[in-house]
Amino acid sequence: MTHPTDAGCIFCKIVVGQIPCFKLLEDEATIAFMDINPVNPGHALAVAKGHWPTVDVIPADVLSSVARTAQKVAKAVVKELKPVGVNLLQANGEGAGQSVPHLHIHVMPRREGDGVALNWGYKPGDKAEIEAIYKRLKAAL
Ligand code: AMP
Ligand code: ZN
Repeated sequence: MTHPTDAGCIFCKIVVGQIPCFKLLEDEATIAFMDINPVNPGHALAVAKGHWPTVDVIPADVLSSVARTAQKVAKAVVKELKPVGVNLLQANGEGAGQSVPHLHIHVMPRREGDGVALNWGYKPGDKAEIEAIYKRLKAAL
């Protein structure tokens, strides 16, 4: 299977073995390895082998494969590390905190009081505003 690649991309280099990683598993379309800046012990990444930067451009079947790989890793994390919870996180664009523009899903084990700022409080939205945006998005689907 051929994948798009980007010679300057750090994850493309990991995929071809130019840069080492702690590889957890690999299949035709995906690879999973440990994050070198772990938020908590066990923080790992499920990564597409091909170079697609974001969710809006990756083929749906590849995204499905990345999700399946993330689930396998998450199951091992839950079973072996018994965290208080696990976040699956996938960032798209610098504005969303994406630092490596090659699609990946973080498997992020959570620990009590780890202070990771992913959770936000509920603040009721304006119904008319929700509906107006809903109409625009529904028309764009
Ligand atoms: P994001 O900010 O969502 O794009 O996530 C990129 C992640 O890749 C960060 O959590 C980095 O710690 C991680 N990372 C960057 N370079 C490497 C590498 N060579 N090996 C493993 N993880 C890496
Ligand atoms: Zn890449």
